[in-house]
Amino acid sequence: MREFLIAGNWKMNGSSAASDTLVSGIVDGIPEGGGFRLLVCPPFPYLASVAIQVSSSAISLGAQNVSEHKAGAFTGETAASMLKELGCGYVIVGHSERRAIFGETSEQVAAKYIAAQAAGIVPILCVGETLEEREASATEDIIDGQLDAVLDAAGVDSFASAVIAYEPVWAIGTGMTATPEQAQDVHRHIRVRLAEQNAELADTVQILYGGSMKGENAPGLLSMPDIDGGLIGGASLKADDFLAIAAAAAAAH
Ligand code: PEP
Repeated sequence: MREFLIAGNWKMNGSSAASDTLVSGIVDGIPEGGGFRLLVCPPFPYLASVAIQVSSSAISLGAQNVSEHKAGAFTGETAASMLKELGCGYVIVGHSERRAIFGETSEQVAAKYIAAQAAGIVPILCVGETLEEREASATEDIIDGQLDAVLDAAGVDSFASAVIAYEPVWAIGTGMTATPEQAQDVHRHIRVRLAEQNAELADTVQILYGGSMKGENAPGLLSMPDIDGGLIGGASLKADDFLAIAAAAAAAH
C-alpha cells in the first residue's frame, strides 16, 4: 500500500516568528498511527531554521522552487545542490502559480525536475487544468501535455523518485474543491498514463491532490484509491488545520 504524503505549501506567507510557531505546533501535534508522512515547504529564508526544528522529528522539509541550472550567473535563483545542503528532501516544481505568473513552460519544469533529482531531491511535479480547460473538456489533454514533457525529458523510470500533485487550478485558493470522484478520475488517468510505459512503477507513484484541501474534505478525498495525500496551501498555515488533514490520513490508512 502506498504511504500518504501530506505536504504543506506555505507559499510567500509568514514571518520568522510565525514559521517557528507553526512548525512547533505541527511537531507537537503529529497524530498517532502510521501510513503517512508530513512535509513542510516554507519560503526560502526560513528553510534553514525549519530544518533545525524538524531535525529530530519525522517531518520532512521541502522547497517551493528550484533553478534548472547547476550554478553560475543566475541572480536570485537557488540551485538544487543548495537545497540539498539545507536538508530539503523534496521540491515543488511546476506549481500553477509558477506556470501562470512567472511563465514557466513545461520544458522548463522538466529541466527543474531533472535538476532536483540530480541533486538527490524528490520533485513534486504539479499538473492541472484551468476552469476554461475543464469546461472545454480538455482536462486530460492538458495533464497529458504537462506529464509528457517530463516523461520525454526524464523517462518513466525517473518517477521512482518523484511525486505528482494533481492541482486543478480552479480549486487552488478558491475554496472550491474537486469532488472526490472528479479528483479520482484524473488521478486514475495519470496512473494509467504512467502504466502505459511501466505498469509496476505506476502502481507505486504517489499522486497527491491539491486544491482547497481541508480537514473537512480530506477524509472523502483520501478515501479514493488513487489519491495518496495532499499538497495543501491555505490549510497548511495553521498547525491545527494541517494536523486535521494529517489525522484524516492516519484514519484512512
Ligand atoms: C496549492 O497552491 O498548492 C494549494 C493547493 O492551495 P490551496 O490549498 O490554498 O488551494
